[in-house]
Amino acid sequence: MIAEATTSVVSNETNPWISAAARFDEAAARLGLDEGLQKVLRTSAKELTVHIPVLLDDGRIEVFTGYRVQHSIARGPAKGGIRFAPDVTLDEVRALAAWMTWKCAVVNIPFGGAKGGVICDPSLLSMAELERITRRYTAEIIEFIGPERDVPAPDMNTNEQTMAWIMDTYSMHMRHTDTAVVTGKPLELGGSRGRPEATGRGCMIVTLQALRRLGLEPGSARVVIQGFGNVGGMAARLMSRAGFRIVCIIEYDGAVYNAAGLDIEALMKHRRETGSILGFEGAEDMDKDEALLMECDVLLPAAKENVITSANAARIRARILCEGANGPTTFEADRILAANGIFVIPDILANAGGVTVSYFEWVQDRQGYFWNEQQVNSRLEEIMVNSFRDVVSYADKHNVHNRTAAYMLALDRVGTAIRLRGLYA
Ligand code: GLU
Repeated sequence: MIAEATTSVVSNETNPWISAAARFDEAAARLGLDEGLQKVLRTSAKELTVHIPVLLDDGRIEVFTGYRVQHSIARGPAKGGIRFAPDVTLDEVRALAAWMTWKCAVVNIPFGGAKGGVICDPSLLSMAELERITRRYTAEIIEFIGPERDVPAPDMNTNEQTMAWIMDTYSMHMRHTDTAVVTGKPLELGGSRGRPEATGRGCMIVTLQALRRLGLEPGSARVVIQGFGNVGGMAARLMSRAGFRIVCIIEYDGAVYNAAGLDIEALMKHRRETGSILGFEGAEDMDKDEALLMECDVLLPAAKENVITSANAARIRARILCEGANGPTTFEADRILAANGIFVIPDILANAGGVTVSYFEWVQDRQGYFWNEQQVNSRLEEIMVNSFRDVVSYADKHNVHNRTAAYMLALDRVGTAIRLRGLYA
């Protein structure tokens, strides 16, 4: 039942690996990256597939399929989240792992890139079943991971509790507690202050930079956010506190709109009470596909891949696209957005706040010395602002779009690391 891989037919456009490879090829060619290095960086370094038997609550055994892909360890331990979703594919995990390599390089933190995924539908599983899946998955990939090897973190449908189970399973096998094996842990177990908000905060910081660059004011800028979870919900909360006008929130079941700006805390309360953002008295309900196309200053897709494709890109009417999700825009859509002059803050920059604070968490765990929230936030701000400037000035200098600039910058940094290390034969 639940463990079956959904054999969804993935078109070339919506296959994230094809988008990732196309962007890689474009940036590598522009950069004049050595042909051998292109071969090294175009593919993942290691890919592990595991089939994990798990006892369900009703006494039956089910077998789930999971992946962990390490794209590169050239600049440090592999780093990246683990997602639980029914439509996880190896190609998706491959793309996400490569994006982690580029993301860590863009913000210049000493990590490579990795990603994991388990094909399962968490909405159909109990907490006890999720715990057993997580622990058995961890046990199956245990030689792959470790504070110096590969450091997982939360991603879609995984959270602090999932990380606590991974940390415990790993530590039980090692016979000592090793908190630095995962990030995004609860504060009580070596988590970092500011980590839950980090991705949303990073999105806000780079959006602010983009608005300034375009001569727009946050107070008057109309913001549309797609996704109201870890990334979108946090971005909405922080941005509304900072005075942005969030006019629309889009979720999987519809959208809510208020031209004067939504009361985000009240909307969160409404969702907690009713299970949906729809029917909120401070807004009108809207069709979710139409909402994505409304005229706005900032569009912040913060849900999943393939939201902006060749089918709708021409109708996007945002000045700034801030990619809170990984891969929300397809390669084909990139060209259309560029032709229409939309200022894109690419995912590998826009959502890098999460992994940046993961890096802070890993550093704090290894030091056994913890920072206060203000230290975390100001260090995050410094990295995000500098990285935004790096990407935008690279784009100006080489006369390319922001996404190509971010890829070129990342490829250059990773390529330089490999060149300096040399090849072990
Ligand atoms: N899953 C997040 C991402 O895609 C965070 C990864 C991490 O902190 O390692 O960036």
